Amino acid sequence: MKITTNINSLLRRTNSELAFQRCINPFCGTTCAVTEVRTACPKCGDLLDVDYDWSLVDIPSSLAEFEKHWQQRFSPVRFSGVWRFHELLPFAPIDRLITAGEGQTLLQQADAVGRFVGMQPGKLYLQYEGMNPSGSFKDNGMVAAFTHARMIGASRAACASTGNTSASLAMYCSVTQLMRAIIFIGSGKISYGKLSQALEYGALTVQIAGDFDDAMQRVQEVAKDLGIYLVNSINPFRLEGQKTVMFRVLEALRWEVPDWIVVPGGNLGNSSAFGKAFYELYKLGLIERIPRLAVINAAGADTLYQLFEKRGLRWNYGKPAMEIACHYYDELDRDHRKADTIASAIEINRPVNLKKCLRALEFCDGVVRRVSDQEILDAKAQVGAGGIGCEPASAASVAGARLLRQEGVIASGDRVVCILTGHQLKDPTATVAYHTADQDKFNEVLGSRGVSRAAFANRAVAVPNELDAIIKAIQLYS
Ligand SMILES: *Cc1c(COP(=O)(O)O)cnc(C)c1O
Ligand SMILES: [Zn+2]
Repeated sequence: MKITTNINSLLRRTNSELAFQRCINPFCGTTCAVTEVRTACPKCGDLLDVDYDWSLVDIPSSLAEFEKHWQQRFSPVRFSGVWRFHELLPFAPIDRLITAGEGQTLLQQADAVGRFVGMQPGKLYLQYEGMNPSGSFKDNGMVAAFTHARMIGASRAACASTGNTSASLAMYCSVTQLMRAIIFIGSGKISYGKLSQALEYGALTVQIAGDFDDAMQRVQEVAKDLGIYLVNSINPFRLEGQKTVMFRVLEALRWEVPDWIVVPGGNLGNSSAFGKAFYELYKLGLIERIPRLAVINAAGADTLYQLFEKRGLRWNYGKPAMEIACHYYDELDRDHRKADTIASAIEINRPVNLKKCLRALEFCDGVVRRVSDQEILDAKAQVGAGGIGCEPASAASVAGARLLRQEGVIASGDRVVCILTGHQLKDPTATVAYHTADQDKFNEVLGSRGVSRAAFANRAVAVPNELDAIIKAIQLYS
């Protein structure tokens, strides 16, 4: 049954006919209703996708038609950089969508950063997700999970977080006053910018004596016991919202598909969502080619790199040899190896979306690389010097693009989009330490990270409080 009535009436219908959840394991394929709250397949325990009967959705005949939604910017739903693509993630009826103005982001052509990466002019773009209301790309996914949570009547939502997920959840809870946020954090590793958001937005903040992987484990147990809605990226609805980052990249490129998407990898929600976005656009006939995907780990949290590049773990038509991953995790435990990087947002050794990411890498002919904290901070300084600040994890994408350029995997004439996942002010500690002239401060924050130099430091100039000396210094340095 093809429905050709206008889109609003279509999407206001009960969405249970056109949207459902499906096990990602093609040999299982169990489906359940869109209104069920699950983080795993009820039959085999694998991850779930949100999927659609696209024949019931009134999909525009070309992506350019989405530009018409801009004419309805007075409508909060069309103003949202997520919901103006509602037809491509139609799991909730249009009158139930929640928004806080997320997704007003920018794709910036960045030639100065491009030179650093080794690209020809006009070829490097930075997708700046720091412009989201809580300062990171997480808002794209959170708004979708939040909408689903409200759709099924939840009143409390929880997550474990390296910082940005909790900031985003806390923001949606307080700005809408619709739910209570409960956030689990590990001890010590959360940046102040992010923690300050969660606290000020009024989230119940539970600090566990353990690291992120411990907090992740606990939040799942607690959510199950207390019936609290879980918004970690294991939640398949979040990934639906995160697909729209790619829709906006294409929109900014006038719907031309770039050659490369380069993204930092932590829990692998973004990379998985991007792969799903391109898969669906391709299947729907809305794009004709697929960009290649590069997922960049920090060297101190490089599980995906180890599994994909070193041990040959592949999606393998839906039968990945997961014993390779299990064996690797056993090794981590045996050697007491914990994730350790200055890029706290990707300081994760057991990525929950591993299988979905393998699928995305397969579909997008992807590669995985790892970059050191030194490379991350140097790239971050270059991104900042180019006028768009980002947090350390985000800069992994630029450092990774540079590495792939050096290897010749990316050509200098390729069109490359690096995703800058979070705002510069999220984590000022690392930035200030990088630029300081005080060697002790530098060592205190960065020394233990194997960061030994700051090639692109912009040092403050110390002068006595005397007019002559100040004028002299300015003339000397400018
Ligand atoms: C969450 C986060 C990441 C990691 O994204 P995944 O989807 O978990 O791989 C990277 N950068 C920033 C700033 C983040 O907040
Ligand atoms: Zn299953």
